[in-house]
Amino acid sequence: MGEFELIDRFFRRPAAGRGVALGIGDDCALLAPQPGMQLAVSSDLLLEGRHFFADVDPQRLGHKALAVNLSDLAACGARPLAFTLALALPAADEAWLAPFARGLLALADAHGCALVGGDTTRGPLAICITVFGEVPTGQALLRSGARLGDDLYVSGTLGDARLGLEALRGSVPLPAPMLAAARDRLEQPTPRVALGQALRGIASSTIDVSDGLLGDIGHVLQQSGVGARIDTDVALGLLAARQTNAPALPPDDQLLAWVLAGGDDYELAFTASPDQREAVMTAGQASGTAVTRIGSIEAAPGCRLVDARGRPVAMPARSFDHFA
Ligand code: ADP
Ligand code: MG
Repeated sequence: MGEFELIDRFFRRPAAGRGVALGIGDDCALLAPQPGMQLAVSSDLLLEGRHFFADVDPQRLGHKALAVNLSDLAACGARPLAFTLALALPAADEAWLAPFARGLLALADAHGCALVGGDTTRGPLAICITVFGEVPTGQALLRSGARLGDDLYVSGTLGDARLGLEALRGSVPLPAPMLAAARDRLEQPTPRVALGQALRGIASSTIDVSDGLLGDIGHVLQQSGVGARIDTDVALGLLAARQTNAPALPPDDQLLAWVLAGGDDYELAFTASPDQREAVMTAGQASGTAVTRIGSIEAAPGCRLVDARGRPVAMPARSFDHFA
């Protein structure tokens, strides 16, 4: 199977879709965002051995490769339009390509996000996706808008992806159903696309949690020129696995480190003025996403951890940084 047959068989589909004037097959795709809209653009590169295990289920990998990009669009409050796929493959292996394309395109269809182009080359397995979304001009949610006195929120659950990673590495023994649930969170993240759009005009700042909550919130605090306090008892409650009361789990301080700095969560962390509390809850309900208030924005720079009674809690390990 040659390069072009591979593209035709696995990735080319009838060009269509909102905002797409021309899809795969020419030198460029043509995007046509609606008048009054800005294009939101984001890229992520996934490398075997660094971002995923060599033996990961290709269907799940296809899902995750697009999910991490859609999560960036969600964080900006943008609606997905289209994406490109640059692939380096060691071989044109149909048994890998078919399920990879299935997982990728199923998530793409679920969000009306068309594959409009890319590049395909032989090499060590690498997947680079660029997504394009649209957001009304001037309404994109940014990292720089957090204000003194704002509430701090997180969507969904935190830490379960890291628990899944530790279990797959063999460092935490988990009963089969718990392993399956944690592994799903690691390999099949749900980008909070509907929530992101629902938060336009409500959230003052937003970021998606990919490297770990503390590190990612740190970007918001820095770019907004503020600090924050986080309630660690509330944060611990965000680990879905802990709600099962399983005896196999590590101690709470280890779990807290994974909740606050585990990585691979793909949830949204955002701030909003306290007078938006009802609007935030409505946005969560309308998008079918749990939203939890975990802290607040303060003047002093940095992030402080406190327990339910307001006593300081020691900082766990830092977020993931490829070059640290
Ligand atoms: P060019 O040489 O002009 O860069 P290519 O010959 O590499 O174009 O690709 C032919 C067409 O197939 C282009 O429209 C390109 O965007 C598309 N394409 C290539 N690889 C992929 C891929 N992995 N997924 C989707 N479209 C792809
Ligand atoms: Mg090319």
